[in-house]
Amino acid sequence: MKRRAATMNSGSSGSPMAGSGCSLCERPAVIRLFDPERRLCADHLLADCAERVDDALKGRIAPGDRVAVGLSGGKDSRLLLILLHRLLASSEGVHLVAITIDEGIAGYREETMEAAAELTSRLGVEHRVLSFSDLFGADLDALLTNRVEQGCTVCGVLRRRALEVGAADADATVIATGHNLDDEAQSVLMNLLRGDLPRMVLDTSGGLPECFIPRIKPLSVLSEKEITVCLMMMGEFVDLPECPYAGGALRGEVREILADLEFMYPGTMRRLISSRDQVRDIVGMMPRQGEIQRCLRCGGTASGEICSVCRVLGRTDISSGTMIDERDTDGNDG
Ligand code: SF4
Repeated sequence: MKRRAATMNSGSSGSPMAGSGCSLCERPAVIRLFDPERRLCADHLLADCAERVDDALKGRIAPGDRVAVGLSGGKDSRLLLILLHRLLASSEGVHLVAITIDEGIAGYREETMEAAAELTSRLGVEHRVLSFSDLFGADLDALLTNRVEQGCTVCGVLRRRALEVGAADADATVIATGHNLDDEAQSVLMNLLRGDLPRMVLDTSGGLPECFIPRIKPLSVLSEKEITVCLMMMGEFVDLPECPYAGGALRGEVREILADLEFMYPGTMRRLISSRDQVRDIVGMMPRQGEIQRCLRCGGTASGEICSVCRVLGRTDISSGTMIDERDTDGNDG
């Protein structure tokens, strides 16, 4: 496959457009977008992205909702909180609470935690921090002893549970996470490559009131590049270290492949997600009440007798072939 040039100059979000004007005004464009093709200045890019996120929120948040925002401090969750804070400011009785999970990753989490605390303090948003140590008795570094290669799988399962616990403690009615369009497209292709169509089309966004809180992904309409450029234009971009466990084998490969395809055929990722949505519409794949139950060991949500949290904590050997529920292993840093 033809590899991307070192400097990006195309794709769903493209590069700074030196010398080109905004399609909507006279100011210099900072980005080139597709579907429809347009060049946008900083102000019009921010307006365009905010409008798309606002559309994605329609029907998902109601007056009186308490929205738990998963805030790692990284760029995705950072923009998510900023946009939700702006877009929901006029919504009647909607309360935001940011929840940061401290996995216990030495040399990495400290900086992102500081960034999260600074942002919530500046925005005046309630901020809660939960740690793996308190919830699960050990931090991630300790849990990954002799199984570093399972980093994102273990972390994803525990982070999801931690966020659910934090959201429940905060009486949240909705959980919002910072998954972006690239994350979504990668998950679609990964599930296809694994031959797991049911998992690909499963939609938990509606939630099941007695079992878990509905989850929404408002940033799934924005590409990673759009998010980065938005933050830079807002003066909100913070250069943070990368998690030492990032880049699991399959997701890393899929990320590269999709980035190449997006470069050569702009809109590839959006079309991939659209294909999944079309399949969802056809088969109507929502989890049924009977598919979610209480774990026999910890009482948490489970799709079998034992939940994936108990499995990754060593109560069942996950390397022995026991499947971890992929809904719990999104591995997104937010
Ligand atoms: Fe956890 Fe994200 Fe690090 Fe993976 S990359 S181990 S999901 S913090």
